[in-house]
Amino acid sequence: MHDGKLLFGTAGVPNSTSKKNNPIDGVKRIHELGLDCMQLEFAHGVRMKEEISSGLRKISYELGVPLTSHGPYYINLNAREQDKIDSSVERIIQTAKISDLCGAESMTFHAAFYMKDSPFDVFDLVEKSMNVIEERLSRLDIQIELRPELTGKTSQFGSLEELISLTKNVESCRPCMDFSHLFARTGKFNSEEEFDEVLEVLNKELQPEAIQNMHIHISGISTNSKGDLKHLNLSDSKFDWKALLRSLKKYNCGGYMICNSPNLEDDALMLKEYYASL
Ligand SMILES: [Zn+2]
Repeated sequence: MHDGKLLFGTAGVPNSTSKKNNPIDGVKRIHELGLDCMQLEFAHGVRMKEEISSGLRKISYELGVPLTSHGPYYINLNAREQDKIDSSVERIIQTAKISDLCGAESMTFHAAFYMKDSPFDVFDLVEKSMNVIEERLSRLDIQIELRPELTGKTSQFGSLEELISLTKNVESCRPCMDFSHLFARTGKFNSEEEFDEVLEVLNKELQPEAIQNMHIHISGISTNSKGDLKHLNLSDSKFDWKALLRSLKKYNCGGYMICNSPNLEDDALMLKEYYASL
């Protein structure tokens, strides 16, 4: 739906939407603001009335505002108890079902915590669950990109390397490239040269499709030694978003750029404007 262009939108309903609890009004507001796409946030649970999801699908199509989605926070495919792993799998499937009803093509989620386990063991477990999820979704005839997020805390599964390996091993898996998290997590990747390096790696390891069809998150961020501390507005952060946009432009990247700064649409518009000026 992005036709290879880079589209700009907000994580959830824009702050300036009159009825903030109605995602349909959110899509209308995105359109009024001159933004391109919107992410449905199921951070605190995946429930949505039938008429809202069908209404979303309709308005998104009519206004040409594609949707992405974000699963609940309480997902951990490496939980201690098997029933918690099972319910994490269910939550991901539930998010995929509702996202599909709304017409979203790409969904992201935080896959797991390491819980002090070896990252290799956690990877195997996450991969196993991802295969189960893929299998169940294909039986339901749901086609959606499953995008584990590049996470911001060093206690969370989801490094760039892990996401690349997972994408190679699981058919419907792609990375959700949260560049602010990548910076927070590593303390690096905050210059045009380093962003180029990331895009080169994606292009080489995962084929050009990986940069032609991206799901990106961006916000200002404050960091400490454990990674992501707090989301900030871009102007209050050291994150070099202009360098990132120059790099994305240079590589002709396409897909969805979702802004999750506290001021949502203000930063999304600033990003879109700067990108258009390049
Ligand atoms: Zn997230």
